[in-house]
Amino acid sequence: MDMTSLTIDAARSGVQERKTTALALAEAHYARIQKEDGEIGAFLTLCKERALEQADRIDHMAAEGKPLPPLAGVPVAIKDVMSTRGVRTTAGSKILSHYIPPYDCTAVARMEAAGAVVLGKTNCDEFAMGSSNENSAFHPVHNPRDLSRVPGGSSGGSAAAVAADMAVVALGSDTGGSIRQPASFCGVVGLMPTYGRVSRYGLIAFASSLDHIGPLARTVKDAAIVLRTIAGRDPMDSTSADLPVPDYVAELDKPVRGLRLGVAKEYFGEGLDDEVRHAVESAIDKLKSLGCEVVPVSLPHTPYAIPTYYLIATAEASSNLARYDGVRYSYRAPGVKSLSEMYRRSRDEGFGAEVKRRIMLGTYALSAGYYDAYYLKAQKVRTLLTRDFEEAFGKVDAIVTPTSPTAAFKLGEKSNDPLAMYLADIYTVTADLAGIPGISVPCGETKEKLPIGLQILGKHFDEATILRLAHAYEQAA
Ligand code: GLN
Repeated sequence: MDMTSLTIDAARSGVQERKTTALALAEAHYARIQKEDGEIGAFLTLCKERALEQADRIDHMAAEGKPLPPLAGVPVAIKDVMSTRGVRTTAGSKILSHYIPPYDCTAVARMEAAGAVVLGKTNCDEFAMGSSNENSAFHPVHNPRDLSRVPGGSSGGSAAAVAADMAVVALGSDTGGSIRQPASFCGVVGLMPTYGRVSRYGLIAFASSLDHIGPLARTVKDAAIVLRTIAGRDPMDSTSADLPVPDYVAELDKPVRGLRLGVAKEYFGEGLDDEVRHAVESAIDKLKSLGCEVVPVSLPHTPYAIPTYYLIATAEASSNLARYDGVRYSYRAPGVKSLSEMYRRSRDEGFGAEVKRRIMLGTYALSAGYYDAYYLKAQKVRTLLTRDFEEAFGKVDAIVTPTSPTAAFKLGEKSNDPLAMYLADIYTVTADLAGIPGISVPCGETKEKLPIGLQILGKHFDEATILRLAHAYEQAA
């Protein structure tokens, strides 16, 4: 049995049927990490003791012949922005480099309750701010498909871990594209659920009105299994929606014939790489050949999405990150002589350049006199962007776009040009702003063998339809 390229079902049934053990699966993945991750850099912390204890628990259940839960024995990786009790959680930042949370993030707890074996915590851009993973305070992540290139960000470690068979699935977070874009760069599936579908309790906050947790996986079905596991109301997060969670897995095989797919010209304009355009257009043709109907739609406020996102996200970040003051759980600068010096130096030494840039931008946007001109205006434009989608979804069941205007770029290529880095988020930030779900599914490669992603956006709380379309495409392609 090939131990490290299994789907969730194959791993779970292998353990259930005693063809392998959860322990053997965990060990095989740690061996793979040992072998591959020196070059890739996907993990920041491994939690072998916790993993082996959980694996042992699962193996006991299997030995007793008990029916195993859906993720039993499945080795998973968790982006290091999700709190794990007793296991260091850094958010990719020096300011939290020694933080050991006293509790578990709900999404992680639900994965473990379903039998998953958490191998470790994955690298990411500091506080999830970035699109290339180069903003990690620890080390960059290299794209497993081409080590000279970025894996995308900010969930780059999670995407790389899954792409390099170092975990079966991973959890990531998406505020402006951080699940879908790294999924597309690394050639895996990435799903951002609807805002409110998955509890954020225990997620280290970046921008609270935009943050989402979701899966990265090698197949659409695996993403559906993880979503079914982590979705649903959590009393610990008042923004989690009290709605029934459909059986996403059971709905995957429903026919896609007759579904209407919106194609918006705003997502195929200037800046889109030709090879990406070609791959996405072929993917749309493939969906058409499966019986989907293609309908032109317009999302006219799309050109304002980047400034809107970078105003709202930085404003919320400046507020959320105020808590890292050196007093409680964060890094404290040594040898300080006064309280204000402690605040200043702890934050100065603890935060990296991009995080500081965003705190400054966000504080400015929220300051008296500028609030109306920037923050309030951005909120109004956010409403317009949301209405664009509402109008389009009056005519179509889903909208198909490229996930990113280009395939993975080289390490260092954009790191000195924050604006160029921000602009590349153009196709992903809109869904976060509107609170709608989106999935990225691999749709071919460039001539240089770099993966390309097809993005499918859905109506609020209609993850089932985008999963179904992504699954149909994946099976056909
Ligand atoms: N690349 C975007 C940013 O830098 C999105 C990040 C994210 O989704 N966490 O803010």
